[in-house]
Amino acid sequence: AAVIVAIDGPSGTGKSSTSKAVAAQLGLSYLDTGAQYRAITWWMVNNGIDLTDPTAIAAVAGKAEIVSGTDPSEPTITVDGVDVAAPIRTTEVTSKVSAVSAVPEVRARITELQRSIAASTEQGIVVEGRDIGTTVLPDADLKIFLTASPEARAARRSGELKGADVKATQEALIKRDAADSSRKTSPLAKADDAVEVDTSELTLQQVIECVVTLIGE
Ligand code: C5P
Repeated sequence: AAVIVAIDGPSGTGKSSTSKAVAAQLGLSYLDTGAQYRAITWWMVNNGIDLTDPTAIAAVAGKAEIVSGTDPSEPTITVDGVDVAAPIRTTEVTSKVSAVSAVPEVRARITELQRSIAASTEQGIVVEGRDIGTTVLPDADLKIFLTASPEARAARRSGELKGADVKATQEALIKRDAADSSRKTSPLAKADDAVEVDTSELTLQQVIECVVTLIGE
C-alpha cells in the first residue's frame, strides 16, 4: 500500500529540504502545503481582498483554483493556471499568509484539496505542513515533528534569503509561528504519536537519514 508520511513543524527547521529529499530518495510524491496557503494568499492580495477582515476572506475562500505538482525534483504550484512559484515567496505574501490560513473556510478548502491529493497517490507521499499529522492525515503511517532553536531557524532562513537581516528575520519568524500556533482551527502542533526531531545541531544530510531510517522501521 502507498506509504503516507506527515512532516510538521515551524519554519526554518529544514522541513521543506528534508521532505523533498526524502521523497526523491524513496521515489515518493511530495506535497508542500505551505505553498498552497501562500498561493491562496497571493490570490487574495492580487484581488484586493481586505485581509484584516476574516469574513471577507471566508467569502472568497473557494474562488482560486490551486493546483500542486507533486514531483519532489520539480514541485510546481499554479493559481488559475498561472505559475506562482516565485511570487508566493515574497515578503508581502509571507507576512500575510498567517491571517489567511487562520480562517476556517480557507482551511476546510485547502484540507480537502490535500486529502484528495494524498488519496490519489500510487507510490506514496511525503506531506509537509503544520497540521498534517493532527488534522489533515491523522492516519498517516509515520508522523515527524521537526523543531529547532530560534537561533538555528533564523540563521537558516537568513541564509536562504541571502544577506537578509538575521534579527528582522528572526522576529518575523517568531511572529508568524505565534500566529500559526495560537489560531483556533488546526494550529501548528505536534501529534501525540509524532516522532520529534530537534534539527538544531544536525546537518540536512543527518536529518534526511534520520527520517529515511524511521520510514524503514
Ligand atoms: O511552510 P510555509 O512557511 O511555506 O507556510 C506558510 C504559512 O502557511 C504558514 O506560516 C501557515 O500560516 C500556513 N500553513 C498552515 N498549515 C499548513 C501549512 C502552512 O496554516 N499545513
